[in-house]
Parts: sequence; structure tokens; C-alpha cells
Amino acid sequence: MRTLLDLMLPARCGGCGTAGTAWCAECASVLTRPPVRVRPRTDPGVPCWALGPYAGPARRAVLAMKEHGRRDLARPLGGALAAGLTRLRAPGRPLILVPAPSRRVAARRRGGDPVLRTARAAAESLDDCRVVPALRLWWGARDSVGLTSGERRRNLEGRIHALPIPGSRASYTGFAEVIVVDDVLTTGATAGESVRALARVGYSVRGVLVTCAA
Ligand SMILES: [Zn+2]
Repeated sequence: MRTLLDLMLPARCGGCGTAGTAWCAECASVLTRPPVRVRPRTDPGVPCWALGPYAGPARRAVLAMKEHGRRDLARPLGGALAAGLTRLRAPGRPLILVPAPSRRVAARRRGGDPVLRTARAAAESLDDCRVVPALRLWWGARDSVGLTSGERRRNLEGRIHALPIPGSRASYTGFAEVIVVDDVLTTGATAGESVRALARVGYSVRGVLVTCAA
């Protein structure tokens, strides 16, 4: 049904609402700067970067994907993420993108996991890059909307876990750079729990890259 509606309704820019395009050139220009180092309140223990602040067209696009099922924004947001990763990655090494986990119920309601979708779009335009959706959120974690920094941390403590690295991939994973990707970085609680969960199963996370930092 959504696909049918997508075909019938004229596209509107996910950042500013301009008709006739999913993502206009002006909105695209806000995400073309080099990633900026950000320091969330809860230190995730690895460097964090953002493509931009959680404001304006980038914020609206992230929300449009998350809340309104705008899957068509995965490609432009993924492209921006890929450009950022190109600046951050070490030359000559494979890159593994691990999407931050989302609540599955929430993801289903929102028409698929937007972070996973965006990561996949980013990986498509990068050499030697793969997406490994290794993180899971245990049942019981609440949606973090409206929680304070401390509440977020407690809500997530021990609730994110990582799937073990398959034996066949161990040497590749050991050599690759591992970057956790997410749409928004707020308190750093999700990023920190994600990095720790990945470390427990043997991933060495180099950093976190998000589309927007709140
Ligand atoms: Zn626009």
C-alpha cells in the first residue's frame, strides 16, 4: 500500500517539503561538510563524529524516515554517511558498519529499520565495506524518547547484546575497521552500550558516526 502511495503521490523533499524531489540540492548541502567530532555526556569510550547538528533539514529527514516511513531518504542520507566514512576510514582496510540497534516493534511500525537501511545504502557506494547488523536490543528496553540521560543509561544497561562473529569471518573482522552508525546521537548511552556489547564478542570498534548530534 505504501509503495502504491509512493508512486501516486508526488515526491516532496524530506528536508524542506519542496515538491518534485525526495531530497533537494539545498538540503543535501547541509550534510556535505566533513564529520565533526562530538562529545556526548556519556562517554562511549571511542571517538564519535556527526555529519551535522540535529536541526533543520537533516533532523526533518531523520524524523521522516523514523516516524513517517520515508524509505526513499535512505539513499541520500546513506550517500552523506558514505562521504563522511570516506574521510574517516583508514586506507587499505575493509570497513564494517554496525547499525545501532532499534526496538524491533518500533522498527516494524516505522516501516523497517531506518538506520539499517541507511547503512546499507552507504555501504553500496563504498569499496570493501559491508554492513553487519550484529546488535540486538533485549526485550524490555523502552523506547528512549522522552527519557533523561540517566534514565536512558539505566534503560539500556546490559540490554544491548552483539551476535558472535562467525568463525568464517573472524580474520576479516579482525583486519577491518568497525564503525557503529546511528541516525542521532543524544546522550551517548546507546553508542556506549553498543561499543561495549561489540567488544564483549571480539569486535574492536574504532568509532561512532551518526547523521546528527543532538
Ligand atoms: Zn529540501
